[in-house]
Amino acid sequence: MTYYAAFLKTIVNQDPPKLSQFNLSGLGCWLPLLATALLLGSVGLGWVVNGFLILVGLAIISPAIGWLVFRWWLKRNLVEDKCPVCSYEFTGFNQTDCRCPSCGEPLKVEQGRFNRLTPPGTIDVEAVEVSAKRLED
Ligand SMILES: [Zn+2]
Repeated sequence: MTYYAAFLKTIVNQDPPKLSQFNLSGLGCWLPLLATALLLGSVGLGWVVNGFLILVGLAIISPAIGWLVFRWWLKRNLVEDKCPVCSYEFTGFNQTDCRCPSCGEPLKVEQGRFNRLTPPGTIDVEAVEVSAKRLED
């Protein structure tokens, strides 16, 4: 869980895939395509070229947009905070339960903070202990 979250964190800090590299390496393919486009345009088939260009544009843009949306979602849901018990800093997912990798304390991730999942009944047990001590006195 923690290694997975750390891996996702590196994705968040990474730059999106470089489109300039793709354009440069594909230049050899683009020139004949451009010539074909001009030829089709000159014989009155410009709409074919436009449709093709829109498709190519979508093919290039959609992965980039998908990447940005994924990154935005990760940034919203990845929570980096310290364990309230032992102050060990680690990463968790928002709105999930997890365990501190250092001390094993069950934690709940809420609103960007780690909160202790105090098991029900703990307070009652402590109260019993206090009253028992008082009785002894
Ligand atoms: Zn801890």
